[in-house]
Amino acid sequence: MPLNKDNRKEFSPKNRVLGSFYGSNVGPTIIIFAGIHGNEKAGVYASKKVISKIAETNVEFKGNVHFILGNINALNKGVRFEKFDLNRIWRNEHFEDPEKSDEGLIAEKKEQKEILSVIKAILLNEPGPFFFLDLHTTSASSVPFITISDSLNNRKFSSNFPVPVVFGIEEFLDGPLLTFINEYGHIALGFEGGAHDDPASVVYCEAFIWKALVHSKCIEKDKVSDYAKYQKVFENLSCKFQFFAIKYRYDIKPDENFAMRPGFKNFEPIKKDELLATSDGIPIPSPRKGRIFMPLYQELGEDGFFVLKKISKFWLWLSIIARRLKFNHFLRLIPGVNQDPENNYTLIVDPKVAKYLTLPIFHLFGYRQQIYKDDKLHFIKRDRKITIFP
Ligand SMILES: [Zn+2]
Repeated sequence: MPLNKDNRKEFSPKNRVLGSFYGSNVGPTIIIFAGIHGNEKAGVYASKKVISKIAETNVEFKGNVHFILGNINALNKGVRFEKFDLNRIWRNEHFEDPEKSDEGLIAEKKEQKEILSVIKAILLNEPGPFFFLDLHTTSASSVPFITISDSLNNRKFSSNFPVPVVFGIEEFLDGPLLTFINEYGHIALGFEGGAHDDPASVVYCEAFIWKALVHSKCIEKDKVSDYAKYQKVFENLSCKFQFFAIKYRYDIKPDENFAMRPGFKNFEPIKKDELLATSDGIPIPSPRKGRIFMPLYQELGEDGFFVLKKISKFWLWLSIIARRLKFNHFLRLIPGVNQDPENNYTLIVDPKVAKYLTLPIFHLFGYRQQIYKDDKLHFIKRDRKITIFP
């Protein structure tokens, strides 16, 4: 049975925390989210498999691990979300007062309130370092891949997995959960296991969880029976570990008739000017050489496709040096670039200066473009000291 056709009401709000396991009191603590999108059940089934195996084999833990369900209401209905996308409302202005009653709250706001209180309790009471993992699947088939905000700690942890790693998707999304977590300095990885209904997505998510538990030093490799099996899962992928940056996004206008040319696979190499899609019957050539990413083949959406560029070893090295030596302080000496007086990690930049400095410079120093406010651009630093929650 395809994973998402199984619409029995099998998820109860009482099971927000699907499972928790405690080891010594020295950490790390791993927090795994599954089903933030209700039509993406592979991560939930994978979590359940890992939970059963931990319970049956009595695996020895050093740190703690928690499996948290995302949008329970949407999971029961088999839909991505009911009113709001639960992965687009993690900004301060969206949070409900925790003291207020749930009565009359929109479904996703209630889910968010519960998830936030679970995360908060873990962060306040358990030992760090904290690793947050968010399991998802995609509408089109794809090799599994990781998405991260480009902080050095995220880069280091994601390099343990033999799958492509994409930087910077958060610059195109408003209010995803992991960006919110990242702003407290914690390690946070999104994992896309493959297509929603593909049973292989469960296998990839399960292997990803075991590898994450081992590489975070929550569990020792030798204590997991069949660990080699989980490592083997990632063999034979057409695209292996490599960092990619998003260089282009095709934005679909509201009345546009957009059609992707058939047959593109995620991460497939494309040439400059290669015909990728049509807009109202007019060909859309690729603006550059690179890899195609998230080509839109079914449901409506605003992202037609993205074009990725492999990140060079030189750029990775240079950015480590620039960030370690704190060269970003020099950015503030440029006229038109100012430190936000209310936030140490934010630069407020005159758009004219930003154009001349270009986005890649800010990326090199570990900043991401976040918002336009009062005619100024705000850039947020991704590498930061860890702080416990609001
Ligand atoms: Zn998702």
